[in-house]
Amino acid sequence: MTRFLDGIPRIDQVDLKNKRVFMRLDLNCPIKDGKVADDTRIKAALPSIKYAIEQGAKLVLASHLGRPESAADKQYSLEPVAERLNELLGTEVLLMEDPASDGPKNLHIGLNQNQIILLENLRFHKGEKKNDVELAHQWASYTDVYINDAFGASHRAHASIVALAESVETKALGFLMFNEVEKLSQILETPESPYWAILGGSKVSDKIQLIENLIDRVDGFVIGGAMAYTFLKAQGIEVGASLVEGDKVKFAGELISRVEARDKKILLPIDHVVAQSLDESAPCKSTESSAIPPEWMGLDIGPKTQMLYREELKNAKTILWNGPMGVFENPNFAKGTMSLASSFAELQDAFTLIGGGDSAAAVNQSGLSDRFSHISTGGGASLEFLQGNELPGISVFKK
Ligand code: AMP
Repeated sequence: MTRFLDGIPRIDQVDLKNKRVFMRLDLNCPIKDGKVADDTRIKAALPSIKYAIEQGAKLVLASHLGRPESAADKQYSLEPVAERLNELLGTEVLLMEDPASDGPKNLHIGLNQNQIILLENLRFHKGEKKNDVELAHQWASYTDVYINDAFGASHRAHASIVALAESVETKALGFLMFNEVEKLSQILETPESPYWAILGGSKVSDKIQLIENLIDRVDGFVIGGAMAYTFLKAQGIEVGASLVEGDKVKFAGELISRVEARDKKILLPIDHVVAQSLDESAPCKSTESSAIPPEWMGLDIGPKTQMLYREELKNAKTILWNGPMGVFENPNFAKGTMSLASSFAELQDAFTLIGGGDSAAAVNQSGLSDRFSHISTGGGASLEFLQGNELPGISVFKK
């Protein structure tokens, strides 16, 4: 087992029978027209929830949703999540309107086996984001066992993640947390070579710490997305009106030299799909080479680049992918990302890990998600972890 989980109990190593269990989950799902639009995170939380129910726990579930200013922001209510949970579990989900009330204390007494409690959006209470100890004590007053299974929120020192864990003696991590940490550690601790990091998305600046943590571990980097234009600019290649981070051009140039000095590879796009605006109806075309004409923006990797990347990566044994290759939300610029997803899906015996966020959304969109070794449920949390930072939601278990 990974050193990151050393000494931390898992949910099935603590006694839950007849215990009042407070389970922090990440049920932060996209909501559209009052319904859950993507229930990936709810489904990912089911193993721990079902296990606790089977063990005879009296269960209080808790999560945040979006970024509400106050409890008046009703569009951030967990009501649609309660509904979806009810459908998936066949269990009555009692939604507590005020996440800080002591309602669960009384409800616990009469709770039958076919009922669970869900607290309203934890961020409806200001104390959640402030890691407020009093709020945590309120929750602890009706909690025998604390379970954290909210990987996607564990990079935040919030009351339900840190102060509550400090206030309850018996605690454990859920199945999802264990699985996430095991898979993400595998890529840091025991990756098999050839090991490639595929980095895309909008900004180099967001990925600098990740690159630094990976440079001595990987055999090569593959760069795509808007990030690529800062690197091409550093090589003196014309990038037209593409997104460039002017203050990161020097870093990009130095990085290319540092990677090559280690006898490793850094692959950059050799052609692009370009347009003059992001509008879906704006004409787009592929360039012949890596240079982009003035007034045109690079918005996806081109067909030659897709082939180059597929060819270079065909013997990979480990793939870490973070960030789309283009503006994949627009079908005109989604092909690069989708083609890469299908190349990875074809890899035999490779450990393929998607770092969550937009890349996870893209892989889900491609319909190939079951062909990957692991797709993280936490974008920000997985990035923090892979950058080498301890997550507060894990380190609190080691105190
Ligand atoms: P990130 O949050 O850094 O992973 O970036 C993801 C975002 O980068 C997505 O919303 C993409 O639309 C965007 N993106 C990817 N490639 C490009 C590009 N070539 N130009 C502008 N935006 C891009």
